[in-house]
Amino acid sequence: MTTTESEIVEMPHLSVQWTRIRGRLQTEVGEVEYRTWLRQMSLAGQDGDEITVTLPTRFLRDWVSTRYGDRLRTLWQAENADIRRVDIRVATVSTPAVPVPESVAAPRFTPMAASRKTFADTTRDVVPPVAARVAPVVVEDKVESRSDLAAPLDPRFTFDGFVVGKPNEFAYACARRVADMPSSPGFNPLFLYGGVGLGKTHLMHAIAWELTNRTSNPVSVAYMSAEKFMYRFIAAIRSQSTMEFKENLRSVDVLMIDDLQFLIGKDNTQEEFFHTFNYLVEQGKQIVVSADKSPSDLNGLEHRLRTRLGCGMVADLHSTTYELRLSILEAKASRAEVTVPGKVLEFLAHKITSNVRELEGALNRLVAHANLFGRPVTLESTHEVLHDILKSHDRRVTIEEIQKKVAEHFSIRLTDMSSARRARAVARPRQVAMYLAKQLTSRSLPEIGRKFGNRDHTTVMHAVSRVTELMERDGTFAEDVELLRRLLES
Ligand code: ADP
Ligand code: MG
Repeated sequence: MTTTESEIVEMPHLSVQWTRIRGRLQTEVGEVEYRTWLRQMSLAGQDGDEITVTLPTRFLRDWVSTRYGDRLRTLWQAENADIRRVDIRVATVSTPAVPVPESVAAPRFTPMAASRKTFADTTRDVVPPVAARVAPVVVEDKVESRSDLAAPLDPRFTFDGFVVGKPNEFAYACARRVADMPSSPGFNPLFLYGGVGLGKTHLMHAIAWELTNRTSNPVSVAYMSAEKFMYRFIAAIRSQSTMEFKENLRSVDVLMIDDLQFLIGKDNTQEEFFHTFNYLVEQGKQIVVSADKSPSDLNGLEHRLRTRLGCGMVADLHSTTYELRLSILEAKASRAEVTVPGKVLEFLAHKITSNVRELEGALNRLVAHANLFGRPVTLESTHEVLHDILKSHDRRVTIEEIQKKVAEHFSIRLTDMSSARRARAVARPRQVAMYLAKQLTSRSLPEIGRKFGNRDHTTVMHAVSRVTELMERDGTFAEDVELLRRLLES
């Protein structure tokens, strides 16, 4: 247990932790939601086990503390095991203390020296003397956690709230099955994987809700992110309570670890997880794990762990289709306080194709805006309110980029994308590129055809249906295409 020390030593300075937390929040909630509500947050300082974060207005303060308070605290605790509370309050000066970078793609790390200075200034400017402090907004767990080890579950993340479509029906069915019959052969471990914002965490929480709420034979469930797992583990080592940590973990019936990719490069934590994993599986307990890649693609995870992870059921959450995006929007809009016209939902489903979180964020912003200003949602107001994200989604991948990536991937010459050659070895990659051009750009079929050596639009149409058909029949091929899509979208 010695090298874990190095993981502790690497724990960075407060403002770097803050930058990371903000970056993480941004990825989690999506660009729209982040820009609307969270961008103006500033770090004011730390006082013992409490962190103070400020916002410029009372409205923003209330909004952030009810919607993101718990998450902020969890993220802080994951970064810094000393933190117990996050106090969210209205800034006492008019300018935000730590200017938040305009760019959404905030750097993961700010240079230490620079950020330290900013932080020192901040502390002086914003935090009022202790005696003058207003009553802190104490962020309490809204949801009771079942064990010390478990993170709170999001009440919205239930099976009922999950919209099922082609891209996620398999993962959904597997999650359902595990919730109905944990530890059944073939489903242990259950490994869910897919890109950001496609519903992995949602499905894991749904399983946990189902299992902990069932009336007959309820089971104990521990759900946590891999990150939290690591910090808990490190904290246990520090306080010399690893035995207790191990015993606690090993006493659960179902262990769920979210975002396992976080353990890449954290060798000791991986080792600990591996042992816990084996112990639980031997005892017939259920494990559910999520990650951004399939077990075999998680390079950097120990080989034996990857092998064990792939032994049960592996289910992929594919990128969303237009139909799924529309169904999700319809479901969410039906619960909103204002009416959102079908045309607006269709428009959003067409435009915002990255992931469900972004989609939700856009809808939330529309609804909040309509509520705030008492105006109905229309196509026109949508353009106005979502101006910035719509613009960023327009700046999407080009056909040339697609051709280049696909050619590289299949090791063919770029010129073959527009050549007349019909050999399968070049024709298939060309069809894949046409398919991706249709999926990822807003170009019409004739426009796409022209870019592929002046081919007819019917050729493109044929390519799209051929690739779709092949993806349904051939899992490896489907994974290849999915991979390319992710590469191009990232
Ligand atoms: P991931 O963990 O894969 O990054 P999440 O599970 O956090 O993604 O999902 C992001 C957001 O999108 C959540 O608010 C979640 O409820 C929502 N979401 C994702 N997929 C669906 C779905 N099929 N139906 C309803 N909501 C969904
Ligand atoms: Mg997640």
